[in-house]
Amino acid sequence: MTADIAFTRLPHPASTAAEVRAAVLADPGFGKTFTDHMVTIDWSEAAGWHNPTVMPYGPIALDPAAAVLHYAQEIFEGLKAYRFNDGGTALFRPEANARRFNASAARLAMPEMPEALFVEAIRQLVAADHDWFPTVDGGSLYLRPFMIATEAFLGVRPAKQYKFIVIASPAGNYFKSGAPAVSIWVSDYTRAAPGGTGAAKCGGNYAASLVPTAEAFARGHDQVLFLDAAEHRWIEELGGMNLFFVFANGSILTPPLGGTILPGITRDSLLQLAREEGLTVREERYSIDQWRADAASGALLEAFACGTAAVVTPVGKVADPDGEFIVGSGGPGQLTGKLKDRLVAIQRGTAPDPHGWVMRLD
Ligand SMILES: *Cc1c(COP(=O)(O)O)cnc(C)c1O
Repeated sequence: MTADIAFTRLPHPASTAAEVRAAVLADPGFGKTFTDHMVTIDWSEAAGWHNPTVMPYGPIALDPAAAVLHYAQEIFEGLKAYRFNDGGTALFRPEANARRFNASAARLAMPEMPEALFVEAIRQLVAADHDWFPTVDGGSLYLRPFMIATEAFLGVRPAKQYKFIVIASPAGNYFKSGAPAVSIWVSDYTRAAPGGTGAAKCGGNYAASLVPTAEAFARGHDQVLFLDAAEHRWIEELGGMNLFFVFANGSILTPPLGGTILPGITRDSLLQLAREEGLTVREERYSIDQWRADAASGALLEAFACGTAAVVTPVGKVADPDGEFIVGSGGPGQLTGKLKDRLVAIQRGTAPDPHGWVMRLD
């Protein structure tokens, strides 16, 4: 399907020394070290997508008038490659990332990319940097495809030149504390409004979440929770993770997609796994007041956040200006752990993959 895409390969002339790499791979952290290579593909009106290249990782030259630097035409994706016990490598649902990338591109007036080209770019990078898989438990190779508007033009309109890049970073555990459950702060700020860019994975959404997140940190919390823009009442998501709620009556709830929530691939996968566990799955609105009441009455047993980087993270405590409350035991819940284990086992190839979510690379 993708055999015809010819990538130029420019191997690194002086790749990272083996002992330096080994030290990184034993304790990679998250997002702070990058592999030896990157992939770039250019787009212009005349040529479309062209010049796919695997090259040494390094700085890129940008015209100071490049549109991305002024009007933030930028989108990204995040997915992980895993090394299986048999030594082979695999991606988890990369076509879903490709589809979402194109949905983000459409919202930001950027060119869409053939799904096969998106996936092939990732394959090429993983092949070039196959020695960069962490050796720690729970490690993976985090892949960050993104696209920027490179045209030098200060007029306000969609740019006519873009660059697509994939970089890779060995990843250990996302939360530095390794805390069993996180504490979240309910923000007064809004992440996304109806008609806005909340469903697009764009850097601008993250820029706008930094002040609310800093406020959460300053108050001693780990993450920020955003409510809806109109009524400031309905739970939407965290700055970069979707939310789930587990009830004593055997149901599980997550807020419905609808333009203001990022359609997480982890979210979608967990909805499927929850159905298979026999839970009643509800994609319904849920208010912060109801959450507080259900936590107090015992109707709500567990809550967790999910996303590619941290996979599944229990929520133990919630705070807003009215006070704080504990969720369930305040620690990791039973079903949270079960769903996480099921998902991770599929992702890492230690359980069967009945949904065809895993793409073996070699
Ligand atoms: C990427 C992202 C998520 C999680 O999506 P996954 O596909 O599960 O990684 C959730 N919320 C926001 C705002 C995101 O950017």
